[in-house]
Amino acid sequence: MNPAVRIDSETGLKIFNTRAAKASEKITGKGYSVVADQKLTELPKMPAGATFNAEEQAKYRAFKEARRGAADYMAMEGAFKKYLDDVYSEPPIPREALDDECEILVVGAGFGGLLLWQKLSEAGFTNVRFCEKGGDVGGTWYWNRYPGIACDVESYSYLPLLDETGYVPSMKFASGFEILEHCQRMAERFGFYDHCLFHTTVEATTWDEASGRWIVQTDRGDKMRARFVILANGILTTPKLARIPGMAKFLGESFHTSRWNYNIDLSGKRVGIIGTGATAVQAIPELAKVVGQLYVFQRTPSSIDVRDQRATTEEERTTWAKEPGWARSRRARFAKISEVRAAVLANDDYLAGKIQDFKERKKHDRELTREELMQKQLDSSFRLMEQIRARVDAIVKDPKTAAALKPYYPYGCKRPTFHDEYLPTFNLPHVHLVDTAPRGVSEINERGVVHEGVEYPLDVLIYATGFQWMGTSTFNRIRGRSGRTLTEKWETEGARTFLGLHTRGFPNLFIVTGPQGGGGSFNFTDVIYAHADYLIWMMQTMRERGASVVDVRKEPEDKYAEHCRDVDIATAPLRDCISYYNGEGRAAPGSLAYYGGRQWDKFRMEAQSSLEPYVFGGDLN
Ligand code: NAP
Repeated sequence: MNPAVRIDSETGLKIFNTRAAKASEKITGKGYSVVADQKLTELPKMPAGATFNAEEQAKYRAFKEARRGAADYMAMEGAFKKYLDDVYSEPPIPREALDDECEILVVGAGFGGLLLWQKLSEAGFTNVRFCEKGGDVGGTWYWNRYPGIACDVESYSYLPLLDETGYVPSMKFASGFEILEHCQRMAERFGFYDHCLFHTTVEATTWDEASGRWIVQTDRGDKMRARFVILANGILTTPKLARIPGMAKFLGESFHTSRWNYNIDLSGKRVGIIGTGATAVQAIPELAKVVGQLYVFQRTPSSIDVRDQRATTEEERTTWAKEPGWARSRRARFAKISEVRAAVLANDDYLAGKIQDFKERKKHDRELTREELMQKQLDSSFRLMEQIRARVDAIVKDPKTAAALKPYYPYGCKRPTFHDEYLPTFNLPHVHLVDTAPRGVSEINERGVVHEGVEYPLDVLIYATGFQWMGTSTFNRIRGRSGRTLTEKWETEGARTFLGLHTRGFPNLFIVTGPQGGGGSFNFTDVIYAHADYLIWMMQTMRERGASVVDVRKEPEDKYAEHCRDVDIATAPLRDCISYYNGEGRAAPGSLAYYGGRQWDKFRMEAQSSLEPYVFGGDLN
């Protein structure tokens, strides 16, 4: 067995062996099954001619306003810190604290970190070190292992490095467990494990102007210096709890979905789950197969679109085996689909390159105005939501339950979900929807959840209450040139970045898939590819120029922040509801996700050709 830290005799660099073993063989699961009943995999017909008229608009508005201010979340601190424990791995591998230097330090070993390593090493950057909070690679797919977990973007376009590893996913929507294995495959294939410090959380990152280095301190006592720091620690990383009076009193078992406790046998138990977002929608059908009684505490229903899962065909396997680069080409074609339902509508013939376009293009006699275009988009969103609401009526037998499961907001305003078993689950006699709209669960006691004077006694309570969006706790632990933290800068000046990747005053710090970080696609993997390519270009450019430090100028940063604000405001009617996407209705426009689509590429290409936004400095030393 190799020691946790040793020196590579060829390169003189440190090699690590800190991957923790899986905690228990009980941690296994699957994603979506193929559903045999064809009727469950189709939406009812689109109501022809239905428009988003004043009456419907008023209904959506009332639905939204009733929920304004209801969202109240808290971090897992104090007595709730236990919910953050890593239940998936054996305890951390003991190792010495490091007091040394590397060229590039990357935070995170999820898709971002894994792809960066493959690309960085290919480009000749090998003095790279990764810090990862978990005991193994995977990021989102390490932490989220609840029953039923699967990706929602087709796996052939979503899983990175399929061409390079020769792997073909087993299903169109691969299970999270299969995705985690693919992460381990990528790590093994490209020698990632040698470079990663697992069970290591970065606690402070401070710029030292004199040496032109970041000083990175961790919870393992490390003090490392790095020329570059890349934050690849995700957009939905830090789990949160709903703040509910009495929650500390509960005497049964409880956990958050991102730390699923497989040591608790749920069979035959009375189980409650709070929340009905994308996680709960996937977990509930699987829970219902096992537990005695299931209570689903819902505040806002998700939109439940069709899934239409299928296995990868033999024909696909044979074709792809003869077609080098098939996954890259498919991902590029997938990126062109800007339809809101791309995940399900993605036409296999188009994606396989057999036909040229994915839909018939409508021609208009004249160019539509901005307002007309917006109305058209709102109308088609409304019609799709009507289909989704009709699907609830078609499947769910109890009219009261069906009424509560119908969402009233534009499609995509809250994270769309896709499932063919979720709605039928509510027809089962032991599954109970507890409608807590519009304010949510308001009390928990020793025995269970109390709502409107009714007590629901539970053996196990599961929090499916989500994650902080675009606000990892890392941002308030990074101090740049002025001594301010990133959070302090953004709180005083508003979120300000260039391309989402740089932020002025924080030289040589790159943020992958953070606030304002576009990439022109809603497939997260595309964005990571675009960001990784950009960063490699940047570091190569610096090498060629002999520069060791890069920062950005004020004017291009301001202009980009204004652009993010403008595109957010212009498209806001399409997302007019209370959602974590808009900070529960409280976020400043342009401060979170990017809504400019391919305009991000325009900003990037202009910057790369003129170099005008950048301030290069220092000597390579
Ligand atoms: P989420 O979407 O933030 O859902 C949190 C849920 O908790 C919401 O339904 C929320 O209701 C509810 N809630 C909060 N406080 C409550 C209270 N006091 N009483 C009752 N309900 C309460 O979290 P998530 O489901 O974990 O999903 C997070 C994101 O992770 C997804 O949107 C998605 O991007 C990602 N994800 C992806 C996949 C995938 O790709 N397959 C799967 C799972 C998750 P309100 O809606 O009323 O606020």
